[in-house]
Amino acid sequence: MPVLVYAENTEGKFKKSVFEAVSYARAIADQNNTSLTAISIGNVDAGILNELAKYGADKILNVANDQLKNFVNQAYASVIASAAKSEGSDVVVISNSFSGRGLAPRVAVKLEAGLADGTVALPEQNNGKFTVKKTAFSGKAFATIELTSANKIITLTPNSYQVTEKPTGATAQDFSVEPKESDFRAVLKEIAKAAGKISLPDAEIVVSGGRGLKGPENWHLVEDLATELGAATACSKPVSDAGWRPHEEHVGQTGIAVSPNLYIAIGISGAIQHLAGISSSKVIVVINKDAEAPFFKVADYGIVGDAFDVVPKLIEAVKAFKA
Ligand code: FAD
Repeated sequence: MPVLVYAENTEGKFKKSVFEAVSYARAIADQNNTSLTAISIGNVDAGILNELAKYGADKILNVANDQLKNFVNQAYASVIASAAKSEGSDVVVISNSFSGRGLAPRVAVKLEAGLADGTVALPEQNNGKFTVKKTAFSGKAFATIELTSANKIITLTPNSYQVTEKPTGATAQDFSVEPKESDFRAVLKEIAKAAGKISLPDAEIVVSGGRGLKGPENWHLVEDLATELGAATACSKPVSDAGWRPHEEHVGQTGIAVSPNLYIAIGISGAIQHLAGISSSKVIVVINKDAEAPFFKVADYGIVGDAFDVVPKLIEAVKAFKA
């Protein structure tokens, strides 16, 4: 059961979630006494590509093709599927990132594979059964599903598997593919990115604000705390609906699902639709002036207090800790 892992790059670099996916794929390869191949698409320097060997890739395939410089969902899926075929890989691991969520079903169709998206643990393999634990119902529950097809695609939830070093000494080699014209029906033209901001879906720490902050003029509290902690900023739906914050920061059932190590909720009530997007967070801290706010039921740490008193003190405490 050879394993293939897709190593997604962000502007030529690999994020921690990629090393998690490689470590996870390595562990699946070890469960089956088989090899792990990593594939990178786009322009990534050899030195950076070779980092994949540190986490257990036996082979590193590099697709450096100008047509594939920018992410194109259909074309990338075709490349990953053809690499899986040429490597004889029947398990393909992809990080459950924005692009990973788009790629995985397309790769699954091309390989006639079963798909388990948003997995949070290594598969269990007993008596020929291959079962995986994954998030379900927008993160409100976990499901254990069995992949019965010969080919299997797994997307790994970021921050749910430990990066594990297992150096192999492999170096990158070119993998040449001729993309088909039909793979370029939709192409990426431009990525609009807020300068210097930490990407919310991959963030390890998220500071999030709700309607309790009263208005956009008070958002410096969220931003200052986020800056001190090296965190991404997020918000509840009514906040983005009101235009206090951009829609890409809206977390929850109808927004982004995040799974950081630390989620700090300030002035958010904890409605079920909000919790749907944050329940895979490792540690949840809630700051709310209403001791009965539902968010406290899922909090690991709760502070009952006025955000306008508590957050400035927290910011000062973090600064003092770092000094
Ligand atoms: P509120 O409910 O108004 O809560 C504000 C909180 O701030 C209160 O708990 C209050 O005690 C506290 N507070 C007030 N002042 C202070 C202060 N000075 N200091 C500290 N605390 C204070 N919501 C989402 O977030 N994401 C979604 O994806 C989403 N999807 C939805 C989908 C559907 C179909 C529906 C029907 C709703 C959805 N909602 C979603 C809305 C959701 O039901 C809630 O209405 C929303 O999450 C509430 O946002 P909030 O907690 O910021 O505001």
